[in-house]
Amino acid sequence: MKKILYITIIIIIIIIILTILFIRKTNNKIINYNPFKDYPFYKEALLKRYYEYQKINNTNDKDTIIRVNMSLDKPFYTDTKKITNPDSYTVLVNKYRYLDKDYIPKDLIETHKYSKGGIKLRKIVYDQFVEMANDAKKEDLNIRIISAYRPYEYQENLYNNYLKKDSKENVDTYSARSGYSEHQTGLSIDIDNIYTDYNKFHITLEYKWMMDNAYKYGFILRYPENKENITGFKYESWHYRYVGTSIATYIHNHNITFDEYYYEFLDN
Ligand SMILES: [Zn+2]
Repeated sequence: MKKILYITIIIIIIIIILTILFIRKTNNKIINYNPFKDYPFYKEALLKRYYEYQKINNTNDKDTIIRVNMSLDKPFYTDTKKITNPDSYTVLVNKYRYLDKDYIPKDLIETHKYSKGGIKLRKIVYDQFVEMANDAKKEDLNIRIISAYRPYEYQENLYNNYLKKDSKENVDTYSARSGYSEHQTGLSIDIDNIYTDYNKFHITLEYKWMMDNAYKYGFILRYPENKENITGFKYESWHYRYVGTSIATYIHNHNITFDEYYYEFLDN
């Protein structure tokens, strides 16, 4: 009997709390309806831009906030910010966030297997990659690194060389401007399967394996298909980024980009 009484009291208390919450919410809506402000990543100063972006793009409230916080309502390479935490494994480099010209990761090491020669990248990334390549090998699959860390000047030359053959508008969809390349962090890798041209990596068995397993080693596909409007880059089946296993798992399970993850959970 006592038990039933306690349960009844608890249920009544819950109903009262929910009613109060509901009334408060309804009142707020009537007084000043702002659908964005309940999200933890809401920024009061950007409210006008949220409304404008949503009106044009018809995005839901959450995506609207994340994208405007990211500056996606402005053209790429405008409204840019200098990165203040370049050594972090969770650093975000994109078309609005750039690295200092002089930034070089301190713990770069040179690859000695599963790669073309003379490639450098950060130690943890290579350790995780070797573990991943070992496990792929057990299934007779070959993955190797063909590019990883790239200095600022190298990226500058790469981008300028593309410009000699192609329009700026086009080049910007497949090559990053110097300072805005994730390769300068030493946390990104381009890979192939030795036998197939890297830009056809998506047709290989190795690619399929990577899609199913890369996150377990902390890697994500950084520029996925159909996310060009967010990343600003064409689909790159060969470009992976190390972010650690817990973030990689979340991104894998939720099918989002690292940019979106960053602005939902890491942007302060
Ligand atoms: Zn790349």
